[in-house]
Amino acid sequence: MTTSLATDDPSRVRAIERWFGRSARDLPWRRRRTGYAVLVAEIMLQQTQVARVVERYGAFLRRFPTVRALAAADEQEVLAAWQGLGYYRRARSLHAAARFVVSEHGGRMPRTIEGLRRLPGVGRYTAGAIASIVYGARTPIVDGNVQRVIARLDANDDPPADAATIAGTWRRAEELVAEATAPGALNEGLMELGATVCTPMNPQCDACPVARWCAARRAGRQNSIPPPKPSPTVKRVHHHAVLVTRGERLYLEQRPARGLWSSLWQTPTIETPRRLRLADLPVRLPVPVTDIADVADFEYRTTHRRIRFHVFCARSRARRGTWRRPDDVEDLPMSNAQRRVLALLPRSGAVSG
Ligand code: SF4
Repeated sequence: MTTSLATDDPSRVRAIERWFGRSARDLPWRRRRTGYAVLVAEIMLQQTQVARVVERYGAFLRRFPTVRALAAADEQEVLAAWQGLGYYRRARSLHAAARFVVSEHGGRMPRTIEGLRRLPGVGRYTAGAIASIVYGARTPIVDGNVQRVIARLDANDDPPADAATIAGTWRRAEELVAEATAPGALNEGLMELGATVCTPMNPQCDACPVARWCAARRAGRQNSIPPPKPSPTVKRVHHHAVLVTRGERLYLEQRPARGLWSSLWQTPTIETPRRLRLADLPVRLPVPVTDIADVADFEYRTTHRRIRFHVFCARSRARRGTWRRPDDVEDLPMSNAQRRVLALLPRSGAVSG
């Protein structure tokens, strides 16, 4: 590790604050700075791209405009409103956090780091973001963008996923926020800098407000700092999704409460490490079927899985279970992968049986 900025220069912090004041993107969660609105935005942004969050954030807040409204909602309603954002565990945590705020704090968001960190799904980063951005607390935040900016400013090429590196970055962020005139603006400025200028590859150093203090730039090592993180292990699996129809209705089932896409709705889907033969499928389905046939295949990736979807259609006369018209499933929370499966439903043939 190189610490070429052992003596900190407070003007570097001012430069980031001023730059953020004139360059901040106009994002919807920057227009409404309440603890609840920022909590919703930060939880959404944890694992979803900004552009996708921009599309969904407004609709979610219109549906649940206050922490009380969210707390009073049914879980399936919350999951349905979360559609398109993925990683539904976050929706459940947000819902649980809203209920906690109502039951433990009378519906008022806690303002301290300690209080915020007691909320389900709220870790050091999210608590720091809410406390500094909404309530002006002098507390640091470190996400992937901030970590990259700090590593480059210091020309620190320690492995970014190591616990010691992460702890060191938090200490550096703490030193920076100690010098801030507006802690929230500094924190958001660091994140914004990482998101828009100090990008993972080919950062725009000529447009950077802290270029003159940047050790990685001086060394010409912007693209090699921080070093890449090891790729996660990816498991290959096969999902056999069967579009079972009875007349104009489609059979749907709910996934188990634990594991991937927990409690979301889907067409009956058999998950195996190897591809199954068509003849092996009917006995594994929840209702008796006839006329089973291939429809299409596609690949779907998550962080830890490479899933080969094999989509089939079949007819059934069964009455038990949940049957819906295919154009009447919007209110059911479903993974994006299962929405793709549904889009493959033949519009004639199997449905007209
Ligand atoms: S000078 Fe370049 S590498 Fe250094 S912080 Fe700015 S954008 Fe990042």
